[in-house]
Amino acid sequence: MNALHSENNREPGAAGISLVDSHAHLDVPEFDPDREEVIVRAREAGVRTILCPADLISDRSLPTVLEIVDRHPGFLAAAGVHPHQAKDFGDDHLRRIGELRAEGRIVAVGEIGLDFYYDFSTPDEQRRCFREQLLLARSAGLPAIIHSRLAGSDVLASIRETDFDRGGILHCYTEDAATAEAMIDRGFVISFSGILTFANAGPLREVARRIPLDKLLVETDSPYLAPVPLRSQKRNEPAFVAETARVLAGLKGVSFDTLAEATTRNFFALFGTPRERA
Ligand SMILES: [Zn+2]
Ligand SMILES: [Zn+2]
Repeated sequence: MNALHSENNREPGAAGISLVDSHAHLDVPEFDPDREEVIVRAREAGVRTILCPADLISDRSLPTVLEIVDRHPGFLAAAGVHPHQAKDFGDDHLRRIGELRAEGRIVAVGEIGLDFYYDFSTPDEQRRCFREQLLLARSAGLPAIIHSRLAGSDVLASIRETDFDRGGILHCYTEDAATAEAMIDRGFVISFSGILTFANAGPLREVARRIPLDKLLVETDSPYLAPVPLRSQKRNEPAFVAETARVLAGLKGVSFDTLAEATTRNFFALFGTPRERA
């Protein structure tokens, strides 16, 4: 038994650890062989809520995400066009998001955003794709799940120019403290992935330390970015979110349980509890 299990291995329920993985791509083919086992391991680790963002460019992503959330009460779906795929974005995708909203199938638009590290789509294509989805999310009354890489000031400019006021999540956060603070002022919370546990992530840990406890979330971004000490596992999975939560608790100077409770509360403050959504 490793530390992950010894600390989390309690009876579920009021006294048990409850963690939310705010971002996991459980729909991807990497999970086809054993998706249900992965979800069982997540529950055993106290992860009873997982937000699954569907990629509208892929034919299989949305149906797979919807099937997963239908089978697992407490799991939530989002949908959007990722900045990598911005060059293929069009009105059909906006229409699909609108339909999903009307059907009550999604709780957020995402992941959307800007990624200037990769150039799978040009910056202009990315900005147009991001802003049109922000405008739709605003009019639909949905929060946004935002991916931002080397693009913090541009993301902020897009939020301001679209007057986006629905808040949401900055996922897999790697930008600076000033961007985080400006986005928190706009109703966003900041979600940290396994990157926070990496040896070379000292500057990011300093950013995390400065973010108030009531504005923090944790995520895996599975199947990518397995946290330390699980880097040898080629595939990340939601049960491993406890490792990122443990590091974040240390940075904030609180117990693991306090961090778990806070991030769970922050998540439901954004999306409502299951009863409120029903
Ligand atoms: Zn992302
Ligand atoms: Zn993602």
